[in-house]
Amino acid sequence: SFTSTNDIRRGFLDYFGRHGHQIVPSAPLVPQNDPTLMFVNAGMVPFKNVFTGLETRSYDKATSSQKSVRAGGKHNDLDNVGYTARHHTFFEMLGNFSFGDYFKEQAITHAWTLLTKEWGIPADRLTATVYHTDDEAFDLWRKIAGLPEERIIRIPTKDNFWVMGENGPCGPCSEIFYDHGDHIPGGPPGSPDEDGDRFVEIWNLVFMQYEQEANEIVAELPKKSIDTGMGLERIAAVMQGVHDNYDTDTFKALIAASSALTHSDPAGDMKASHRVIADHLRSSGFLVADGVLPANEGRGYVLRRIMRRAMRHAHLLGAKEPLMHRLVPALVAEMGAAYPELIRAQPLIEATLQQEETRFRQTLDRGLKLLDEATAGLAPGGTLSGETAFRLYDTYGFPYDLTEDALRAQGLAVDRAGFDAAMAEQKRAARAAWKGSGAKASDDIWFDIAEQHGSTEFTGYANDVGEAEVL
Ligand code: ATP
Ligand code: MG
Ligand code: MG
Ligand code: MG
Repeated sequence: SFTSTNDIRRGFLDYFGRHGHQIVPSAPLVPQNDPTLMFVNAGMVPFKNVFTGLETRSYDKATSSQKSVRAGGKHNDLDNVGYTARHHTFFEMLGNFSFGDYFKEQAITHAWTLLTKEWGIPADRLTATVYHTDDEAFDLWRKIAGLPEERIIRIPTKDNFWVMGENGPCGPCSEIFYDHGDHIPGGPPGSPDEDGDRFVEIWNLVFMQYEQEANEIVAELPKKSIDTGMGLERIAAVMQGVHDNYDTDTFKALIAASSALTHSDPAGDMKASHRVIADHLRSSGFLVADGVLPANEGRGYVLRRIMRRAMRHAHLLGAKEPLMHRLVPALVAEMGAAYPELIRAQPLIEATLQQEETRFRQTLDRGLKLLDEATAGLAPGGTLSGETAFRLYDTYGFPYDLTEDALRAQGLAVDRAGFDAAMAEQKRAARAAWKGSGAKASDDIWFDIAEQHGSTEFTGYANDVGEAEVL
């Protein structure tokens, strides 16, 4: 029987709600409590201060489906989109949290019960990892799940040890992997080819057990806590009997929309473009709904990069007019019931996408022509010069990673160091040119501000100081 992604989300929250967890709505993607973080990238982020004890709530167990973006900063999955079966820039992280209430045994029991009993996922498809020294978790997996020893893998790396930062709670994690079968390349966790898509990590259980000071464990936490995160799209793929997240109901509906509007086969040569568009439509739509608008710096520049990358793929599909805004109704139809902010923001999302695509199209054709000319002479495995990548950025509004994405499909690379050098040189020249006007100190301040904030709008031709780096 078929279970929709919307039903899986609901089923998860119901399960933990029935077991005494407060059902907490997703927080916005722009962090409310952490200025150092670009986007909320995990379910625990809105609860950070509850875990450290800075904040108390009326409940000690919670569950949520948290909107998450990993497209900038420390966790960046932008380059994985279109290449792996399991990564998105926007995804939903299902989580259950214990703030000093239950700990390891109950967390493993809940995860195992939900996966294998409530949802009927075959136990012999599941593998668990534990931190190499965590005998307690190893024994619990034996006892609760009856997993054979060879399917409880001890991992000695940071992958299985979670820290909040230099200071604060930390502890071992235990991750659950689903084996999609030996027809798919990839090895079990901990093996040399673990990054393949055969064994897909579905759920991470974090056991907050210790207190750190300056990166050293100094004590056991008096109130041990639980933080878990499961990718909704990954568990949907498992439950819908498909290997690839992009073959689940939500993504099929979005891809059907781009396919219908461009008369392009979703499973043919342009498959990767359809996937990138569907993924980037979701991140763009949700970011705009949460108040981010395209800009030349910071969060807004990450959004612009995502939008423009999608727009290049729309162009590849042969779209002669702006496409992305016409896909928004499909997004709202799929996800608006769970996230009413999408319905409220629909006109703004459509207008923002249309305006950005209209503007970008003014330079896209000429930029792509330049790119074609520059790569025509390159042998397979060759590298585009940093100066050309910089010209594409500065004159044609191609974010660096768009150029990289365009070339990667042809097996070509970009000279990043050369790009950075050209950027630095332009900034230096702009400063030098300005020095002539006197009043040095205040000019330096002006340039610093301009670099931090960038120009407010992309004008199509060389901006005076270039676009500032993202966070
Ligand atoms: P991976 O190793 O596959 O990149 P991760 O270890 O980085 O995943 P966690 O930080 O442990 O992921 O996040 C918890 C869960 O969120 C993962 O087990 C996975 O199900 C899901 N998840 C993480 N990143 C993504 C992503 N980019 N797209 C979709 N789901 C994701
Ligand atoms: Mg990852
Ligand atoms: Mg992982
Ligand atoms: Mg993980």
